Amino acid sequence: MGAGRPVEVAIVGGGIIGCAAAAFAAEAGARVTLYERAEIGAGASGRNMGAVQHPFDPILAPLYEETVQIYRELSQRDDEFSFPGEPAGLLMVTPDPTLLEPDGEEPPLGPRSDLLAPRQVQSLEPSLADDLWATRLETGFPIPPHAATAAMARRAREGGAQLELGAAAVPAVVNGRAVGVVLEGLRPRAADLVLIAAGPWSPYLLDPSGRWQPIVATWGATAQLELASPPRHVVEELRVESVNQPVSDAATARPPSAEKTPSIFTLAAAGSVVTIGSTFLAFEPDPRAMAPLLVERGKRFLPGLRDTRIVATRACARPQSLDGRPLVGEVAGMQGLFLAAGHGPWGISSGPASARLVVDAMLGGDASVIPDGLNVRRFDTPTVREVHV
Ligand SMILES: Cc1cc2nc3c(=O)[nH]c(=O)nc-3n(C[C@H](O)[C@H](O)[C@H](O)COP(=O)(O)OP(=O)(O)OC[C@H]3O[C@@H](n4cnc5c(N)ncnc54)[C@H](O)[C@@H]3O)c2cc1C
Repeated sequence: MGAGRPVEVAIVGGGIIGCAAAAFAAEAGARVTLYERAEIGAGASGRNMGAVQHPFDPILAPLYEETVQIYRELSQRDDEFSFPGEPAGLLMVTPDPTLLEPDGEEPPLGPRSDLLAPRQVQSLEPSLADDLWATRLETGFPIPPHAATAAMARRAREGGAQLELGAAAVPAVVNGRAVGVVLEGLRPRAADLVLIAAGPWSPYLLDPSGRWQPIVATWGATAQLELASPPRHVVEELRVESVNQPVSDAATARPPSAEKTPSIFTLAAAGSVVTIGSTFLAFEPDPRAMAPLLVERGKRFLPGLRDTRIVATRACARPQSLDGRPLVGEVAGMQGLFLAAGHGPWGISSGPASARLVVDAMLGGDASVIPDGLNVRRFDTPTVREVHV
């Protein structure tokens, strides 16, 4: 890094984390190039459920709160991005009221409503089945699934970042120091600092042997529906907070039977964009085959789904870390090589704030800004392959 010239930053991955990091780094004066092997939001960042919500984890809660703030500011400056002024509310529903009895630790969400009986649930959301119990949480901002990532990409471009699409990249490391990236065809691109933000593919970019796996892919299928009068709340089948963990053995059996497909009913309606989900699988499902199963299962909660039309189907992978929290910071023993990945089911809700953290650590040179519970170094060290350019 020479004095007098801007720091060159290479970012690998054009999901929510990469795009937000590109925006923040460019705004801080770095010369930023983001390399995305497909298109912006090609992974989960463009294909998720579109619910910005509390991640049920005290370590992640500040990231969620800051991310909401970032989206609020973004909606002020970007006419194409709108963010709800107030949360729509999250209704966690179940036909079994015993599931709503507190079993020890409550999610750290501040005021949580009491148990809502079916009659109260009906008065809040008349379209839900009339035998559902619920609890209501003051969180849940529905946005179209691709919207936040697209807005962050626009902000990055406005700030002067170059976004190279269709450009698969691997980090170039020489003598324990990041020197840039290598694109397909062995084309080197120099940089002072490199950030890997490639979601569930990140471990392979650092350690191609596949031995370093603190983040694994948990595949989800979703369906976008045409639906008259969808619920205003984000609706989730109770126990969705248990989704932030690697998939169970059942999810690795392929193909699972329809009944055994691990899925949890969720619905988020951002205006006319109504999305239902979602599965938790160790392999990439065919979303066209999964969508009818999601609708079928969803009818238990939302009978009106019998009259719906599926307008789009999607599959994407959650970058699921082993302890449910992202890995952020400089990789041990690799100067200038940073990672921000592993946001599991909460990347849209917490990703921009962790992108800001990693950019602060990269450009400020101060690793202490990253809380221990998020630091990449809490896991063992990947064997980074040296690539000479
Ligand atoms: C079904 C489903 C529903 C979800 N719903 C929600 C929700 O409602 N709310 C929420 O907060 N979160 C949700 N999530 C989680 C959220 O979508 C993810 O945590 C988040 O999108 C991860 O962002 P990322 O930038 O880390 O990774 P990704 O979005 O996976 O982006 C990584 C990018 O890197 C690119 N890439 C990979 N390798 C290379 C390479 N070698 N060179 C260049 N580019 C490369 C990929 O093409 C991809 O575009 C959901 C996830 C799933 C699967």
